[in-house]
Amino acid sequence: MYKSIIIGTGPSGLTAAIYLARANMNPLVIEGPEPGGQLTTTTEVENFPGFPEGIMGPELMANMRKQAERFGAKFITGWVNSVDLSERPFKLQVEGQGEIVGESLIISTGASAKYLGIPGEKDNVGRGVSTCATCDGFFFRNKKIIVIGGGDSAMEEANFLTRFATEVELVNRRDELRASKIMQDRAKSNDKIVWSLNRTPLEVVANGMGVTGLKVRNNATGEEELIETSGVFIAIGHTPNTGFLNGQIDTDEHGYIRTKPGSSETNIPGVFACGDVQDNKYRQAITAAGSGCMAALDCEKFLEGSITQDWGESLPQ
Ligand code: NDP
Repeated sequence: MYKSIIIGTGPSGLTAAIYLARANMNPLVIEGPEPGGQLTTTTEVENFPGFPEGIMGPELMANMRKQAERFGAKFITGWVNSVDLSERPFKLQVEGQGEIVGESLIISTGASAKYLGIPGEKDNVGRGVSTCATCDGFFFRNKKIIVIGGGDSAMEEANFLTRFATEVELVNRRDELRASKIMQDRAKSNDKIVWSLNRTPLEVVANGMGVTGLKVRNNATGEEELIETSGVFIAIGHTPNTGFLNGQIDTDEHGYIRTKPGSSETNIPGVFACGDVQDNKYRQAITAAGSGCMAALDCEKFLEGSITQDWGESLPQ
């Protein structure tokens, strides 16, 4: 039986692990199939404070893990198949590890960016294909960029990327945009954005060094077209990794775990959430790390009995 169990090892989970381990709470950290989380799929991280020359994403995550281990956090690897949160202690069924029991639980399983599943896409992540404008936009200064998607994320990313790009071409599979009117209006009034609507992405074209273009089908004519670019930003949404919870925790309409405003507390006493699994807005390594710290402090207080998390069945909307 563990005092605290942390599921997920992105910046939020590892920060929670550092704090809990340092507080002698001996956390057990369960690493999934993508140890280190989304940052391990990026190259250089230039906006994490404390690294004036930048740091490679995998190195940053390896450092955080080492720091947690130094204070006694224990790591195991395994896919969490299911959890039983109906009573404390909580029970987790972990692939290859059997049942694991804990007095408290921190969920930091992140969110996964959706990909299109077209040829050339996954092979060129970090070499021209990105799902994060804030992380990678800077690398495309004075270049032409394509953004794929028609939702609020795509509008926001396209607008943001005009700071760097000579031109941003927005490719959407339908003639209509899904984005809210205000976000559409903002993007439409930006004269650096050009519109390629009614076009289905078919293939990311690359030359071995990096991306050179995007092949699309013009749905009006049925013709294939090649749009030249060195950067393809995919903004078709994210999926929070909450499947294993099987509906036992309050989530918003997009599946993100709902936390009490200003804290990491979920609607179940003793269960805390941090990082992208509860953040549909900022999605940054530094905000995830900050919320991991909050989760550890909230969890510690809960274990000491100084917060009861008693606000009924459901969190306020
Ligand atoms: P959405 O689900 O709203 O939009 C996804 C977009 O990607 C749609 O245009 C969709 O096309 C397109 N798409 C999905 N799958 C594919 C595919 N396989 N091939 C091509 N295109 C595809 O996701 P967002 O991330 O934009 O937004 C998620 C939520 O977060 C929304 O509620 C949004 O309002 C919110 N948000 C708010 C922001 C803000 O207020 N500042 C900023 C960002 C997000 P189609 O329409 O044809 O289905």
